[in-house]
Amino acid sequence: MERATQPGKVWLVGAGPGSADLLTLRAARVLGQVDVWLIDDLVGEEIHQHARPDAVLEYVGKRGGRCSMRQADINERALAHALAGRSVARVKGGDPTLFGRGGEELAYLAAHGIEVEIVNGLTSGMAAAQSLGVGLTHRDFGHGVTFVTAHTADDGGPDWPALCAGGTTLVIYMGMSRLADIRDALCRAGKPADTPAAVVMNASRVDERQWCGSLATLTDALDAGLASPAIILVGGVLAHARHPQPAAFALPLAHATGDSLACC
Ligand code: SAH
Repeated sequence: MERATQPGKVWLVGAGPGSADLLTLRAARVLGQVDVWLIDDLVGEEIHQHARPDAVLEYVGKRGGRCSMRQADINERALAHALAGRSVARVKGGDPTLFGRGGEELAYLAAHGIEVEIVNGLTSGMAAAQSLGVGLTHRDFGHGVTFVTAHTADDGGPDWPALCAGGTTLVIYMGMSRLADIRDALCRAGKPADTPAAVVMNASRVDERQWCGSLATLTDALDAGLASPAIILVGGVLAHARHPQPAAFALPLAHATGDSLACC
């Protein structure tokens, strides 16, 4: 393995949810100075404009027909570049440490003596809430927000009863293949079936799509054509979601007011 006297630094860079203007100024600055980009799934090509002309851009994600790499190989690739003295941007969608394995990569590189710095990105859950026009912590509807993955590392799911008991707005990542399970688990845990819910696919991108309904009708989002990557949001405040997409917005929420239904 190529070794320089001084290893390079690795930045874990959040590219935001997709829209190029949601990249932070700090991310743009870091992206403009590093030797190598290791780019994940769900990172739009518009941000390539920030690369140094001689920077090497390597895709390590698996969407869009590109080859996928195992996590261990990605870790090793970042380490190899750093040990060779190259500065590296590990570019991830949204925020690099939120469900993106950024924490694991950081620990791996740090254990090998590499300096690592996190550059926050706007997470897709927040972009979804923005596009629906809701405040996730609106105090009339709950006392907080919980970002959760529907797909845990052991291939299971989260503790839905505990999440229900928490009384926060739920922002669920990686859940589109489990919509029926999520609905059933939350209803079993005591969430009323008419709890407002929404799904936002490709949040902040030009091909963004939304669906609004209730927990009971959650799987209708699939019939409406929504698919991964998407964020699922569950909680009272979603009754006030806005920005309708045609056809997908019949909202049979028994307890909501006519006004709030009409605007979703
Ligand atoms: N670090 C990322 C999340 C990576 S996990 C972040 O902070 O956003 C991958 C999951 O993120 C997807 O399955 C999907 O649930 C969500 N996701 C990522 N980009 C998205 C987007 N533009 N719109 C909706 N969901 C998105």
